[in-house]
Amino acid sequence: MRYFVFSDVHGNVEALERVLEEADRLRPDFIVSLGDVVGYGANPNECVALVQERASLRLAGNHDVAAAGLIDTDSFNETAERAIRWTCRTISPPSRELLGEYDTVRRHGDCVFAHASPAAPMDWEYIYTLNQANTILAKTSERYIFIGHTHVPGIIAHDGARGSRVLRGTFAAVSPGSRYLVNVGSVGQPRDGVAAASYALLDAHKGTINIRRIPYDVRGAQEKIRSAGLPESLAARLATAR
Ligand code: ZN
Repeated sequence: MRYFVFSDVHGNVEALERVLEEADRLRPDFIVSLGDVVGYGANPNECVALVQERASLRLAGNHDVAAAGLIDTDSFNETAERAIRWTCRTISPPSRELLGEYDTVRRHGDCVFAHASPAAPMDWEYIYTLNQANTILAKTSERYIFIGHTHVPGIIAHDGARGSRVLRGTFAAVSPGSRYLVNVGSVGQPRDGVAAASYALLDAHKGTINIRRIPYDVRGAQEKIRSAGLPESLAARLATAR
């Protein structure tokens, strides 16, 4: 079974199209979207439609549920809130309805999927530390845990003897008895200094986890953000990826 998992598209259709071309090439068994399909970027409707068409599991991010009107934006910073207001004005009623149908946690085979912590998905906690990862590992039993939300990709391995550790790089050869927490990074607004779309591929049969990066038309996405009247910082950060 091969899982192709991505997150945090954020209305960036230029990046999403490139990632889905990779999925065409790789022909995985499952395509999973971990949410935040909208917010920040200029093409929310196009991204919702593509995710609906291509992803067989669709999880909700905080921006998705805010755009669907299911939560308020008190926890959003000023730029994120401006972007959500723009998104609410721009999304079509059918898109809004689809956003409202996304799941908060899904399990499939040896995997559990969520935007933030699968132990408390609607708390929207940003998972940055090993302590936080350990809490999630203790509260779940699946072998593979996939999350997004921070826009920073990474893999944590956990086994009984060695505890948890952050793996160097973006590849893991799965070892027997280990469990893995994978942050798949962001398609449409990476924040790890690499201005390329991110996704993860789990080949459960071969026992490999890969996080891969795909270049896309950053300038095209920036121009659309600017001409939509969205905050300039949202265009700028696509290039710096910070
Ligand atoms: Zn996000």
